[in-house]
Amino acid sequence: KAYLERISLVDPKVKAYITVTEDLALKQAEEADNRILKGDVEPLTGIPIALKDVLCTKGVQTTCASKILENFVPPYDATVVKRLKGQGAVILGKLNMDEFAMGSSTENSAFFPTKNPWNLECIPGGSSGGSGAAVAARIACATLGSDTGGSIRQPASHCGVVGMKPTYGRVSRYGLVAFASSLDQIGPMTRDVRDCAILLNAIAGYDPKDSTSHPSPCPDYEKALSHTVSGLKIGIPKEYFGQGLGDEVEKAVTKAMALLKENGAELKEISLPHTEYAVATYYIIAPAEASSNLMRYDGVKYGLRAEGYKDLLEMYKMTRSQGFGPEVKRRIMLGTYSLSSGYYDAYYKKASQVRTVIRKDFIEAFKECDCILTPVAPTPAFKLGEKLDDPLQMYLSDIFTIPVNLAGLPAISVPCTLSNDGLPIGVQFVGPPFKDEVCIHVGGAFE
Ligand code: GLN
Repeated sequence: KAYLERISLVDPKVKAYITVTEDLALKQAEEADNRILKGDVEPLTGIPIALKDVLCTKGVQTTCASKILENFVPPYDATVVKRLKGQGAVILGKLNMDEFAMGSSTENSAFFPTKNPWNLECIPGGSSGGSGAAVAARIACATLGSDTGGSIRQPASHCGVVGMKPTYGRVSRYGLVAFASSLDQIGPMTRDVRDCAILLNAIAGYDPKDSTSHPSPCPDYEKALSHTVSGLKIGIPKEYFGQGLGDEVEKAVTKAMALLKENGAELKEISLPHTEYAVATYYIIAPAEASSNLMRYDGVKYGLRAEGYKDLLEMYKMTRSQGFGPEVKRRIMLGTYSLSSGYYDAYYKKASQVRTVIRKDFIEAFKECDCILTPVAPTPAFKLGEKLDDPLQMYLSDIFTIPVNLAGLPAISVPCTLSNDGLPIGVQFVGPPFKDEVCIHVGGAFE
């Protein structure tokens, strides 16, 4: 009730929620109370959590912040949602995002932009901007986001909260509306690293419903929490400290490095030589997969169907023209182009090869260090509208997070300091594949 009341007071300003599921939440809270009375308590019993609106929720609208899914009510829960409910979590509602998770500012939502709670004139980051803003504004205890190229870590950094993208395959994608299937992962956004570990414990683990879900058992991530970084070897990739990195973020990350060193970590310069190709590679692979995934929105099976068409082809055309926003259309055009028969080898195949090389860079680097420290975003949160007319500038918001998705690695963004204007700046710790606990360890010790 306290959270619902705070939502009604604060959310009109922040605009993090697309849907508040008040009645359902109160019902779930009552059930949680009953469980607690019976002594049947799990870590999330009664904890109010909100979800990025890209996660299917049974009986509750799941819009992906798109007109094409505005009235879509899934008949099933995503595996992560099922697991949260299984523990007795209370679902407060569905959070705003960039349409189909394409963007870095939440301004691509078809409904309205979300504001950064630290400064309402600034973007909260994206695409999980609603998830970041809701935790920062204390209108959800914790949230889930999705991260294809940085969409959990970048808004976490901009909103001063913790955000983690698990190893690809660690968390089931069943019921996550697909953007780029080989890159997408669901992850927690929380006030601190302990909450992140608790949430990861709840959602991680094998799921037969996702063919890319990994069968290896998960450790107890909460047990990975530690107060010391002593003896830890932290790699500093020199390629992340050149062009494109803003002064304030560079200062913040340098400060973080000094702090870690003071506390006994060993800092080691490393090289990830193919970093400069990551953004270009991503913007071939992600749109290609998106164009294929988004084929299903044809006015037949899901959501919107345009009116006044003459025949089937026109129905497809009108539905997709009216239903998708400009950024989604841009991605579909890029993707269908690079997948077309004459260009497949030159673009998609080449990008897949470069992706392998980028992953190998990381695997080599992890022979020399336990984890890698980098900036999260080049600058603190920018003003609403500032990059809206310049997609390329917007794409560069993710230069430090995209390589991690291409390589399928776990990474966490932890608040580091405030900018001169009082905006949060995060720092990123990247772990080796399936060593998500390393992120929890170093992130937790750092915060
Ligand atoms: N900003 C990137 C994009 O627009 C990443 C988005 C994401 O991680 N979902 O594709």
